[in-house]
Amino acid sequence: MNAKKKFDHSNDLVFLPLGGTGEIGMNCYCYGVGPADDRQWLMVDLGVKFGEETDPGIDVILPDVGFIASDKANLHGIVLTHAHEDHLGAVAWLWPQLQCPVYCTPFAAQILALKLKEAGLDEEVPVKVIPVGSKFTAGPFHLEYISVTHSIPEPTALLIKTKQGTVLHSGDWKIDRTPVLGQGMDEKRLRAIGDEGVDVLVCDSTNVLREGFSPSEAQVADTIAAIVAEAKGRVAVTTFASHVDRISTAVRAARATGREVVIAGRAMRNTIEAARACGMLKDSGRLLDEEEFGYLPPDKVMLLCTGSQGEPRAAIARIAEDQHPHVSLDPGDLVLFSSKTIPGNEKEVSRVLNNLARLDIDVITGEDALVHSSGHPRQDELKLLYDWVRPRALIPMHGEPRHLRAHAIFARKHGIEDVVIPRDGHITKLMPGPLRQIDEAHFGRLHVDGRLIVPSEDGPAKQRRKLSFVGIILVSVAVNSKQDLAADIEVVTDGLPHGLQDGLQEAAEKAFEGTPKPRRRDVNVLGETIRTSVRRHADQIWGKKPIVKVVVHEV
Ligand SMILES: [Zn+2]
Ligand SMILES: [Zn+2]
Repeated sequence: MNAKKKFDHSNDLVFLPLGGTGEIGMNCYCYGVGPADDRQWLMVDLGVKFGEETDPGIDVILPDVGFIASDKANLHGIVLTHAHEDHLGAVAWLWPQLQCPVYCTPFAAQILALKLKEAGLDEEVPVKVIPVGSKFTAGPFHLEYISVTHSIPEPTALLIKTKQGTVLHSGDWKIDRTPVLGQGMDEKRLRAIGDEGVDVLVCDSTNVLREGFSPSEAQVADTIAAIVAEAKGRVAVTTFASHVDRISTAVRAARATGREVVIAGRAMRNTIEAARACGMLKDSGRLLDEEEFGYLPPDKVMLLCTGSQGEPRAAIARIAEDQHPHVSLDPGDLVLFSSKTIPGNEKEVSRVLNNLARLDIDVITGEDALVHSSGHPRQDELKLLYDWVRPRALIPMHGEPRHLRAHAIFARKHGIEDVVIPRDGHITKLMPGPLRQIDEAHFGRLHVDGRLIVPSEDGPAKQRRKLSFVGIILVSVAVNSKQDLAADIEVVTDGLPHGLQDGLQEAAEKAFEGTPKPRRRDVNVLGETIRTSVRRHADQIWGKKPIVKVVVHEV
């Protein structure tokens, strides 16, 4: 082998996750072909993650795509596998950095259009609408959307063919042989691409810890229909706003028992409109607005609403607090949580459940009956996909570290020996095999703070978190040309216990008096002396060190 050949990386196919491996959320996976200094990129999915309590004021978290943005001339497209927020939600925020075509299915295009419009980008972003089952090309990437089953319309797996090798990127999927809507899992095509040869399967890990096979949407539909048929009073069903299959199921259960359907929640309305624009929910009839709820007899109405994750501003939370402007429930009415509580949302959900209990309203959740089924594959479904596709190697994705590790062990146990656990920012060579980490790329998180995108580390959320523990003290000092006080020192506090004020004022005055006049000339020195004294005093009395800001005015 000559030296040139040895270092020729033009045949490399690499995988770089910038989000989605190490967390469930903010999925962003990049595939690259060619040498490191001229790599051609394709991005698959660009989603958000929802903010946590630890970051006050941050509702949405984005992946940092700076690494790819700095090479955007070589980015041939963003391909979206489906319309869930964790796969599509960051496009409107980050597209201005990336400036490339966005490929998605008709339903995802409807959902994306709303977001682009809100961001004022609807005229700018070249959105290429590709029907499920179609082939298309982005630069050196030959692509195909393969129909799978999941918990939103038009979920796809993406077949990525390059001259360097073939990858099946599973997207989010489960095997549902009796789905309520959609084309279903294209087992035939998946087996065929297995025959053609797949080098690497990059695969959903969300439910790898669960044994067996997920229940079908049809089973869920039967359960919901039976529950609604038994209900005597009003029925409210809350589910994920994007779950069109479940919306369809609930509407059918209502129609079967002569109930009108009232929709509450903008997100659910938007989904229904998007679905109807794509030819879905055509037989669901007229869906009423929330204003009409109160005029209908209890046994003739079903409310379909948002808030299954306990979101405090969503319809079901406000109904549970009896604060909804148009909808109220009475003792004996029924609320059905056709959903799963996503880890992290337990407190909010239990607050809603407790509020409903206070109103003496019956509640059925996924723990009581089969009123929800996850959209992700359990172990027996993973095994089936491995059998159909027969990949040489596997990379687990869409999971927290424990899911990824368990998936790696599971895949090896089922005959796929070449498995690498990826990490956000790691560049893994897929082809030529075996899988091997060859490089690292900059990665991280960005916070959406109001209308702005800000850093997550050392960003405003960090300061706010500190404020939430200890409060703030502002000290205002006016000094005249003789280095004496021109007015009384003013101390203002926020978030501190009562009774500290006078002591703080004295501490500030003492610190001023104790500073010799020549040293008072340096406002920085004077300010710092006062700041440390005030902080020390608060600590002595309170046992906490608040944030102290001192402003020195020279008058
Ligand atoms: Zn997902
Ligand atoms: Zn999904």
